[in-house]
Amino acid sequence: MKAFAYVNATNEREVVAALKTDGIALPLAGGQDLLARMKDYIDSPDRIVNVKNALDTTVTSTPEGGLKIGAAVKIIDLYENQQVARMYPALNAAAIEIGTPQIRHQATVGGNINQRPRCWYYRNEEFVCYKKGGSRCFAVDGENQYHAIFGNDGPSHIVHPSSLAVPFAAYGARFRVLGPKGDREIAASDFFTMPTLASVLKENVLEDEEILTHVILPAPGNVRSGHYEVRYKASHDWPLAFTTVVLTMNGNRIGSARVVLGAVAPVPWRSKPAEAALAGKPLNEDTAMLAAEAAVSEAKPMSGNAYKVQMAKTAVKRAIMRAAGLKTV
Ligand SMILES: Cc1cc2nc3c(=O)[nH]c(=O)nc-3n(C[C@H](O)[C@H](O)[C@H](O)COP(=O)(O)OP(=O)(O)OC[C@H]3O[C@@H](n4cnc5c(N)ncnc54)[C@H](O)[C@@H]3O)c2cc1C
Ligand code: SF4
Repeated sequence: MKAFAYVNATNEREVVAALKTDGIALPLAGGQDLLARMKDYIDSPDRIVNVKNALDTTVTSTPEGGLKIGAAVKIIDLYENQQVARMYPALNAAAIEIGTPQIRHQATVGGNINQRPRCWYYRNEEFVCYKKGGSRCFAVDGENQYHAIFGNDGPSHIVHPSSLAVPFAAYGARFRVLGPKGDREIAASDFFTMPTLASVLKENVLEDEEILTHVILPAPGNVRSGHYEVRYKASHDWPLAFTTVVLTMNGNRIGSARVVLGAVAPVPWRSKPAEAALAGKPLNEDTAMLAAEAAVSEAKPMSGNAYKVQMAKTAVKRAIMRAAGLKTV
């Protein structure tokens, strides 16, 4: 690891000020992603700015009936928060599936959302791909079994690694960010960016020196929600495909739906075909199956990951079944 300067900021404005430097400065939260990247020489910042004593560590109610979650809230505290569990059960379900107990006790909400891709070419210093300023994607003709099955126009074919990003997008969360020009709020669904040659070095709209400070969830309203992850192994590791569904009910029927898939695209992937298949239908297994088929109708897998299409379909169906309170197996 290259030597670096360390700044222990005590409030959010100090973080933003400390990120301004002639070299490279990065925020450090739980360190579960950043320190690994530094040890592997994927990133070699000149300065790291500890945000754990500077950003909000609380979950508070909003006047609108929703919740405001500080970026420095640890994932274990998010999971154990009773209001989160009662109001946003799919978020609670996603939180407990992340990594291991050790990771959940260190990692934060802000760090989880801003973690960098897990693509093994990206994580290996020998491979200078588009995401590291190179001129090719090694996954296209290489090992792509864990890569995208949607949004595969390139230049990068990553799947977004954040498990929390998906329920946040499904529940219609907004992200508050702060930078040198002040603060702004961005819908979670607009925060993450599809790769282009101009944007491929990043996965979201954050500018240099901008940080995520809060996630603001709207009042849940009359919704039923469900979350389901398909994993290679139950103990830990990222899911192969997962889904959060949030269904606004109209009596016994589904009025409208948000269906967001994870681990299948460079961004949390909202499935309009699945949402259309759910609208106006009764909430039962037949409807779940129709929506699951619709969800994968536009999948474009790569050479080694067609198997993920069935997994994504299963995740959509079972997330809807969970929202309905039905058994998934
Ligand atoms: C074995 C294993 C299994 C895992 N499984 C999963 C999984 O299933 N799902 C999942 O989602 N993750 C998984 N992870 C990843 C882990 O959850 C993330 O690395 C962790 O959540 C990152 O949070 P952190 O607070 O440690 O972030 P850090 O490592 O401190 O930071 C991550 C990145 O975000 C930036 N950053 C941090 N805070 C902010 C902020 N407030 N504003 C802007 N930028 C910020 C940092 O500069 C850095 O680039 C797994 C990790 C391991 C090792
Ligand atoms: S998928 Fe993205 S991160 Fe992976 S090799 Fe291709 S460009 Fe790099």
